[in-house]
Amino acid sequence: MDKRIHFFSQNQGVSPKIAPELLGIRGRQANEFAELRFPILPGFILDTTIASELGSVDIKKEVKTLLDSCSKIVGKTYGDPENPMLLKIVVSSNLAVSDYPALHNFGLVKPVVAGFTQWVGETFAAHEVLFLVRGMLWIEERLRKLTGEGERMSGRLQELDRLLREHPPAKSAENYMDEYAEFFPQGFFENAEGQLLIALEEISKLLAVDEQNDRDTALLIQPMVYGNYGKNSCSGGFFSRNVVSGEKKLQGEFHQEKFNELGGNGQDIQKIDPRHLKELEGIAWTLEDRFKEIRQIRFTIENKRLWLIEQRPVDQKSTQADIKLLLDLAKRKIVDRAYVVKALEPLRLNEILRPMIDTAGVRGLKKWSGGIAGAPGAAIGRAYFSTEGLLEAEKLARQRGEDTRFILVLPASFAGDVKAIEVATGVLTAEGGYSAHASVVARQYGKVSLVAPALTIRGKKATLGNIVFSEGDYLTLHVPSYGEPSVYQGAASLIEPKPAESGLFELIAMAKGFLKDFHVRVNAENPRDVVLARSFGADGIGLCRTEHMFFQAERINVFRDMILAGSGEERKKALNKLRPMQRDDFYRIFKAMEGKEVTIRLLDAPLHEFMPHSRDELRAYLGYLEKNKKKKVSEAEICARIEALDEFNPMLGHRGCRIAVSYPEIYAMQIRAIFDAVYRLRDEKVAVYPEIMVPIVMNASELKLIAYGKKIEGADYTGIVEVEEALREEKKVKPVPYKIGTMIELPAAALGAADIAKYGCFFSFGTNDLTQTTLGISRDDFTGFMPDYTLFDLITGNPFSVLDPRVKELIALAVERGRLTRPDLVCGLCGEHGAHPGNIRFCMEAGLDYVSCSPYSVPIAILAAAQAELRKAEPGEGPGRA
Ligand code: PEP
Ligand code: MG
Repeated sequence: MDKRIHFFSQNQGVSPKIAPELLGIRGRQANEFAELRFPILPGFILDTTIASELGSVDIKKEVKTLLDSCSKIVGKTYGDPENPMLLKIVVSSNLAVSDYPALHNFGLVKPVVAGFTQWVGETFAAHEVLFLVRGMLWIEERLRKLTGEGERMSGRLQELDRLLREHPPAKSAENYMDEYAEFFPQGFFENAEGQLLIALEEISKLLAVDEQNDRDTALLIQPMVYGNYGKNSCSGGFFSRNVVSGEKKLQGEFHQEKFNELGGNGQDIQKIDPRHLKELEGIAWTLEDRFKEIRQIRFTIENKRLWLIEQRPVDQKSTQADIKLLLDLAKRKIVDRAYVVKALEPLRLNEILRPMIDTAGVRGLKKWSGGIAGAPGAAIGRAYFSTEGLLEAEKLARQRGEDTRFILVLPASFAGDVKAIEVATGVLTAEGGYSAHASVVARQYGKVSLVAPALTIRGKKATLGNIVFSEGDYLTLHVPSYGEPSVYQGAASLIEPKPAESGLFELIAMAKGFLKDFHVRVNAENPRDVVLARSFGADGIGLCRTEHMFFQAERINVFRDMILAGSGEERKKALNKLRPMQRDDFYRIFKAMEGKEVTIRLLDAPLHEFMPHSRDELRAYLGYLEKNKKKKVSEAEICARIEALDEFNPMLGHRGCRIAVSYPEIYAMQIRAIFDAVYRLRDEKVAVYPEIMVPIVMNASELKLIAYGKKIEGADYTGIVEVEEALREEKKVKPVPYKIGTMIELPAAALGAADIAKYGCFFSFGTNDLTQTTLGISRDDFTGFMPDYTLFDLITGNPFSVLDPRVKELIALAVERGRLTRPDLVCGLCGEHGAHPGNIRFCMEAGLDYVSCSPYSVPIAILAAAQAELRKAEPGEGPGRA
């Protein structure tokens, strides 16, 4: 036997001495079945060293012997008029992109037509002739195209496609053979053996000239089996488990006595003969164990005998299905825990954390694509163009029992809009980017957010590319973690997430097992988020933005009173109202995060975010003043105060600790509220670990002042430490240990870290502001010109999502300098970058102790951190290879 031709069957694989590349991809796949001793159709492979030389070698005798071997196994004989065995030829390239069609039905010649027809019927037989002809004419057409010889055949191929769609076919099998005989050498439809040799030679000729093959293609020849060989036959396809839920149960269909699989309704694979079901389950689950993934399998049962046709990976499987499979493999010790943790791309977890769009349900809806993902997921709702409008519509919908899903559509959002974001399913804005207000708040509340600079709103109408919509119209936002976001006009349908059923919690526990010195905390400021994040594996709160606690409707006006206070007395009054609100919030937050660190960031409010932004909002505030203060305040007076606070550049203005330098009573109120809660919880025997964090610090003196106070002639500044001491004395209670630290979010602070560390026990890198101030790019305005920067390759990626190298350098340097002063300095990162898996490895290598991110990103960060930890241990990996 020529050493370049390889036989295989269920009982015998190709010799292991043969290099797998010689068999091509399809040949290798067939041989894998043989090696697994699965019921694979027997066959032979003309390997890559011979497949394109068949014109010059005589393989006639060998082919005959091999066909005899196949016959013995399948019980049909090539060329036999009664029970003919037909063959398929598969071009088995080593290129995944090979476009050769499968070539079917060799051996279908006039002497066997009657025999074949008695099994499958006339209609099917006629179609099979057309398939045979189409395959060969495709080869001929490509050959003519490449050599430039002979008349082109594309017209003929089109005609064949049309004939193949005809049902029933216009002519009989023999008539078609007569009609197409002119395209083949004499005897093509007369003699089965001759037909095969003619076909092989022709295909080989093409392979020799087709550059795509580069003499790297094999030919796989196997008998054909048919699922319509009477009532004991069927064929079908299935997945090794449910590709949506991950349940270990075959999912698919089989077709019995049908013309073809597309031609009729299939039956559930679970209803197939139990003997075959058991056999198929055994095969499917062996394949899962071998490939460690869900597989798709096609089979045919011909006269009660099961044959596997093909098996391959599955593209459209859910994250949940993959997790379920991996956990199952780990439970049965097929893979270890490290394998499970490394197997999943962290961002895929978004799919089980948020609702996803049912792609089958968007057909026919008008679509706009583009924009910047603020918070991934999918949302459906009626569009409203103002917070007031949306809240009003939501209230009405609730009263009337109507659909309460809404999408907030605005040029940009501010503090006053948070209440609408909270009740909406999603938010669509024109301005900003990943770290803009709408995006940050949406992520915090687990809502979907999309920034679409193309959005324009005029009155009650808005335009987004080809979509024009009015207030009250339905929109669907589709913001995937990967790929381009889209907006659909109308309501699609959603698939809701079920994290508890998805295996997520087990996966997180497994991932956390690999994290020794690195943690993931949560950015949260309400107990609901804290509880959620804890269930997702958060080890503490890394950032509690206290200004976000004033966003609720009943608080924002008191907060405005505080900001707009005309005198110290007025400010004090407002602060006294805010203190119990804060105290109760802190109490609930500390309690929900019992036993773990909670970092409370003192107020950092760019004041413009809290001011009324529209006439409606202003009027509402005036109404509140009148009602609460029982005195009429003129619009002009309030406008004048707002104007007085107006800043040219609020993000670099009077914000963060700078406000507290001017108004120490604000932070004093917050400190008292924190410790009111802390002492009460201590009495209730709840373990609290408070960390107080000062924002927008630029030098050590600021932190020193705010933490420890200062006495100068004529002025006295009471710092955090003294406020706590005074409260303790007042309440006559024992101290609870706490830490004071700072955010590092200005380059000056990073450079001055050695000094700053003298007054703070921890650093938390606020990379939203640190990126903004290092690059000098506004975090809220970058989206507007980012496309131009991307177009000309001036920037790689979005620096507000993936850390810029200069920002990384500042972080690494600050950690190093800070720890020279204070070796046990705890360092974390709490900007939006903490949620991006691509930044985690750097954070670990820079020596950070944790990252902190929004609740829904916690599992993603944990998985990414565990993967980075595991990768460190891999050969050739090490520090500096992020
Ligand atoms: C930051 O600047 O990264 C940060 C976390 O603070 P904020 O986003 O609240 O300014
Ligand atoms: Mg900041």
